[in-house]
Formats: sequence, C-alpha cells, structure tokens
Amino acid sequence: MVTRGLIIGRFQPPHRGHIEICKKIMSEVDELVVGIGSAQESHTLENPFTAGERILMLTRSLADEGIDLSKVHLIPIPDVNNNAIWVTHVVSLSPPFHIVYSGNPLVRRLFKETGFETKKPPMIKRKEYWGTEIRDRMIKGKNWQELIPKAVVGVMQEIKGIDRMKDLSKTDYLLR
Ligand code: ATP
Ligand code: MG
Repeated sequence: MVTRGLIIGRFQPPHRGHIEICKKIMSEVDELVVGIGSAQESHTLENPFTAGERILMLTRSLADEGIDLSKVHLIPIPDVNNNAIWVTHVVSLSPPFHIVYSGNPLVRRLFKETGFETKKPPMIKRKEYWGTEIRDRMIKGKNWQELIPKAVVGVMQEIKGIDRMKDLSKTDYLLR
C-alpha cells in the first residue's frame, strides 16, 4: 500500500521551513499531499498570491530539491469557514492520505478527532522561516530573499510580487 502524508498550509509564500518539512515527510512516507489552504484568496496583505502562483512556487522549489514530482500532489483547498466540517472537506478534495503533519495544534486536533494519525514536525528557525515575518519584510524592503527558496524568488520576479504587495499596503483613506 502507498502511504501518503498530508501537509496543509496557506504557503503565502512557501519558505525554506516548508521545503525542509516536505523533505522530512518524503523520508517517512511514499508520497506527499500538499493542501493549499485558503485557495480562493489572493491580492490581500495576508494572502497576496493566488493558489496557482503558490503551486508554481512549490513545484519549482520541490523540483530543485530533487524530489520526484510524480510523488507529490498539490491540491487547492478553498476555505469553508466551519471547523467541524473542514476535515471532511479536505478529504473530499484530496487523494487518499494517512498521516497528517502540522505545526498548528487546531489542525492536528481536527484531524485526530476524525481518526487520522497526526504528527507535529519540528519547527525550523521559526523566527525567520515564518510567512508573517517574510510578508512583513517584503513590504518593508528588508532582506527576504534568504528566507525563501531561489525558485520562489524567481516566481516573485515573474509575477512582480513585490510591486503587488507594496500596492496592497497602500490605501486611499485619509490618515487621521
Ligand atoms: P503564516 O505566518 O502566514 O501563517 P507559516 O509560516 O505559519 O505562515 P503556513 O502556510 O501557515 O506558514 O504553514 C503550513 C505548515 O507549515 C504548518 O503546518 C506550519 O506549522 C508549518 N511550518 C511553517 N513554518 C515552519 C517552520 N519554520 N518549520 C517547520 N514547519 C513550519
Ligand atoms: Mg501559519
């Protein structure tokens, strides 16, 4: 039987911590399922990139690590805004999976209550390998490139991601 491990996140954007965890999961199971959460979201400060852009970033980064992409399944998962039915929603969209890896305690609880085996991966350099910190640095023009894989830097250039984020951080409200 093929064993699949699931990791679910928003990947706004994918960073080096995510890629390390994906590699660790691949060393423990046969195949990896990556759930792209809040898939319907884009062009906001919290969720700047579309599901397709995030898939491009992840696919290229995992390929650069020499991971066999025929063993990786990237599945966009839109929000349902209802924790009680969220696991069923994820299952309804994903290939079969057996072990759920998450650093997020709520995610682990929801899958555990539905009968899944869950694992808490070690957090890697969490102060820096952290989406919120990386988005903040991108807007402030501080060095963010070192925190994300080279392939993600390349996609950021292709989609003019920094211009987009700087525009998102502006407003037409009067400052009071
Ligand atoms: P955000 O600040 O936007 O929530 P994030 O860095 O937490 O960004 P997510 O997309 O929320 O990224 O995370 C997806 C999964 O990756 C979660 O299970 C999370 O715990 C895990 N993860 C995130 N950062 C790290 C890290 N540095 N080391 C190990 N796992 C991580
Ligand atoms: Mg998070």
